[in-house]
Amino acid sequence: MLSRRSLLGAAGAAYAANPKIDAALTRPVVRRELLKEPVLIQSIELLKSGKHFFVRVRSTNGIEGFADAHSSVMASAYPILLKRVAPSFLKKDARDVEVLLRHVYLAQSNYKWQGLPYWVSVAVVEIAILDMLGKAANQPLGALFGKVIRKTIPVYRASGNRGNSPEAEIEYLQKLVGETGATAIKYRLGARMEYNDASTKRDLALLPLTRKTFGAGMSIYADANGSYDVPMAIRIGRLMEEQKFAFFEEPVPFDYYDETKQIADALKIPIALGEEEMSLRGFRRIIESGTAQVIQPDLLYFGGLIRSIKVARMSEAAGLDCTPHMSGGGLGFLYIAHFASVVPNVGAHQEYKGDDDNLPVSCATSSLKSEKGMLTVPAGPGLGVELDPTLLRNATPIAV
Ligand SMILES: [Mg+2]
Repeated sequence: MLSRRSLLGAAGAAYAANPKIDAALTRPVVRRELLKEPVLIQSIELLKSGKHFFVRVRSTNGIEGFADAHSSVMASAYPILLKRVAPSFLKKDARDVEVLLRHVYLAQSNYKWQGLPYWVSVAVVEIAILDMLGKAANQPLGALFGKVIRKTIPVYRASGNRGNSPEAEIEYLQKLVGETGATAIKYRLGARMEYNDASTKRDLALLPLTRKTFGAGMSIYADANGSYDVPMAIRIGRLMEEQKFAFFEEPVPFDYYDETKQIADALKIPIALGEEEMSLRGFRRIIESGTAQVIQPDLLYFGGLIRSIKVARMSEAAGLDCTPHMSGGGLGFLYIAHFASVVPNVGAHQEYKGDDDNLPVSCATSSLKSEKGMLTVPAGPGLGVELDPTLLRNATPIAV
């Protein structure tokens, strides 16, 4: 077994006097004891079939794992995955995946390359390895991290619209709710990293209209995508409080930490932040400083489930929810489902993006759809889904 000492690196167990957060960071995430024998990684392939990219890993004893590789990112990021990420995992014991995450960060000075293409590459290799480990252990993916505590997950649907009229947005949200039975919705405010008179007019009309339309039983979240300055964020936040919204996401640009904290201090509504955050240490600072109250690592942008579980544990130590963000559609909803199956403090609802454009998979234990606002977590080993054989037949390996 590889040393665990290096695990303490990036977020620093020695920092500050917060033993609960230190303990959250140092506790191993993967239950290595579930696997008595080594699972040696023989190959890591990036494959493309139609518009879909996916990663396939194989062990020397023939166990396979796969992950949807966030196709829109991978179309540009694939040389990073193939040249900088995959080599650190090849020929290694997959049971050490947690330690290998530290090794890949140091290999080839990858920490200088970190950013979305690097971390998404790490995430999808990690998830394919976890799928393989789950199959080796005959356990669903969540069980690799702890006791599975949820078999079904309440979901919310997010609207990606901006700039449409309040009435058109309400109609669209009604359609999403009708399709999924979701008891929670999220929609966008502002003009994306800026605001103007038209966006403010829309925001001020939409906030009360959503509550009036959907009634008291609907949980409503709103995401400003960094659009406001502090005074406007406080003005909008007060209206959200009046309308009993559940959280206010990215009120100001995501790296305006001091301004986000000013807003959090001025308002009662929880502030959500984290989808653009790529540093474990950065999350520690957000959590310890009270900058945000709902912590939102994107499972792919942040580099996978293991790092995100560390964020969830730090959040738990501070009494906060860690509700992951989902980028890119695809099978991201499955990664979130397994995360939420085992993480206690995930918050009330998880993002579900629908299944219009997914990598084709089948599942014997879940419809993979939101039914009455609930998604059943696949119960089979690993991710619990099988890739469509046609997709595999048509797939070609990507090389650099
Ligand atoms: Mg967002």
